[in-house]
Amino acid sequence: MVHEYEAVVVGAGGAGLYAALEASKKVKTAVLSKLYPMRSHTGAAQGGISAALGNLEEDDPDWHAFDTIKGGDYLTDQSSALLLAEDAIRAVVDLENRGLPFNRTAEGKIDQRRFGGHTRNYGEEAVRRSCYAADRTGHMILQTLYQQCIKSEVSFFDEYHVVDAIIEGRRCAGVVAVELSTGEVHLFKAKAVLFATGGFGRMFQVTSNAYANTGDGPAVLARRGVPLEDMEFFQFHPTGIRGMGILITEGVRGEGGILRNRKGERFMERYTPTLLDLAPRDIVARSIISEIRAGRGALGDGSVDDYVLLDATHLGKDVIESKLPDIAEFCRTYLGIDPADRAIPVMPTAHYAMGGIPTDLDGRVLADERGNLYEGLYAAGECACVSVHGANRLGTNSLVDLVVYGRRAGISMGTYAQDNLFTPVPKDGDAEVRLFIEGLMNEKRKLHGDSIRREMQSVMMEKFGIYRNGTDMQHAVARLAELRNGFNEVGARFRGRRFNTDLTEIIELRNLLDLSFLTAHAALNRQESRGAHSREDFPDRDDKNWLKHSLIRFEGSGVSIGYRPVDISKWQPKPRKY
Ligand SMILES: Cc1cc2nc3c(=O)[nH]c(=O)nc-3n(C[C@H](O)[C@H](O)[C@H](O)COP(=O)(O)OP(=O)(O)OC[C@H]3O[C@@H](n4cnc5c(N)ncnc54)[C@H](O)[C@@H]3O)c2cc1C
Repeated sequence: MVHEYEAVVVGAGGAGLYAALEASKKVKTAVLSKLYPMRSHTGAAQGGISAALGNLEEDDPDWHAFDTIKGGDYLTDQSSALLLAEDAIRAVVDLENRGLPFNRTAEGKIDQRRFGGHTRNYGEEAVRRSCYAADRTGHMILQTLYQQCIKSEVSFFDEYHVVDAIIEGRRCAGVVAVELSTGEVHLFKAKAVLFATGGFGRMFQVTSNAYANTGDGPAVLARRGVPLEDMEFFQFHPTGIRGMGILITEGVRGEGGILRNRKGERFMERYTPTLLDLAPRDIVARSIISEIRAGRGALGDGSVDDYVLLDATHLGKDVIESKLPDIAEFCRTYLGIDPADRAIPVMPTAHYAMGGIPTDLDGRVLADERGNLYEGLYAAGECACVSVHGANRLGTNSLVDLVVYGRRAGISMGTYAQDNLFTPVPKDGDAEVRLFIEGLMNEKRKLHGDSIRREMQSVMMEKFGIYRNGTDMQHAVARLAELRNGFNEVGARFRGRRFNTDLTEIIELRNLLDLSFLTAHAALNRQESRGAHSREDFPDRDDKNWLKHSLIRFEGSGVSIGYRPVDISKWQPKPRKY
């Protein structure tokens, strides 16, 4: 079936919904989502959204921008961070006006709490900058934006899985999607397409990300020749539930929770004496591993099962139940403990992709190192890289990225679609996808994807986790290439058309394999340690050679890597001390 919309948004998380809301003011807009919008992963965001409102203590957008840049280990484009911090205030007030039920202070202002790496006066001490709705902030954002989209008559295609993009030269003309309930292939012609497909934490064994976070947008575009930026930087959040990866929000530490080792020591005093438990995530995650390696984990044996404790018992039941109700529930459900009575066993968990589809400040996708742009192709949210998080994202800066840059991208795509004609799409524009799916349903393809997925996830976890080294990564890259080749033998065991989740998982596996391969190559290539990319064989940051963004693309059976300069227009890089 063929559809025609002036603007097509792929993804119904915070970024996609905000973009659709803006685009729909100007042109006929459709949102395609493989999940029901309310199930998008934005709904899992717990801790809050940052904005220097200064409701409880003095704050300044300039401090917010500085923290974002220092937190990103100076790989952040400074114009992106300045714009984010400045516009965050308008964005949060806008969400409030649209009906988002933020927690309130006694005077009725939006309440704010502390979060990792957010400071007053350029690093003096932690500041209250995170606006929150209990520990359900993302859920509230989704509800608010979805209702607004319905009001604005955005068309929704729920449970449509986008498998390919139609790109003619440097111009995007539409997408091809599978309708999950029927298995039918649909061609969507569009003047402008925006990808907002979220993260890809599922390439790791232990992750806070949902099963659907398989990086479909970046993988689809990479196969169509679009370069991906800074893929070597993947964030591990310090506090996932031990062994499961389910997230315990930084909001627990923001409310006063403390990380302790087996001796009961507040070990962050050793690593970041000023910000303590509220240092940026890359540093806290490495500190946890250092404690475990030194035999001070809870088990004391330094094994992969070892962990540390997040102590919130001193906060009291009232604070926990009113400000962190979902966390309390997670602890009861998954651990059988009450965080008001017992400390939570935690370990770092794969959490957030700093890299992705490269864009300018208006969400337009970059085609190369020189800054040339695609026409009619946009990206926003976690799948995009507007270079605002650099080498390490600060907590609460993703939700604000969604609404600031999602909005800008939506405005920009709406204008573009208004001013331009449809690009002609070949009649058989969906032929490749039909062939691909028929191939996966062919009974000659005997291999099931499970074994490949499991091995990919364990290779990524062990060799591209918190610490990395060249020798291990070299072997791992070769193994990932073999796993990618193995995909050619993978076929669906179930061959029905309706809700064939077996087929969906295989399509997603190809995306994860492609992104793992690119991430691995990019990590092996960067010979320094910066932010979340920490190499044992190159332990120092090397600004002379590596203060630059990487752009990686497929070339034959391998990759090619180019570079783009970092915008350091305001603050010169300094050593990162907290
Ligand atoms: C547990 C957890 C807690 C977090 N807490 C916070 C927090 O407190 N503050 C903060 O700032 N950040 C937080 N983050 C990060 C933040 O929530 C995410 O980065 C952000 O929500 C991603 O939003 P998005 O719009 O880019 O994508 P998502 O919300 O993940 O939405 C992706 C959308 O794309 C659709 N999609 C994907 N692939 C396809 C396809 N092939 N075809 C069609 N549709 C597709 C999906 O259906 C979905 O609608 C948290 C993350 C996690 C995992």
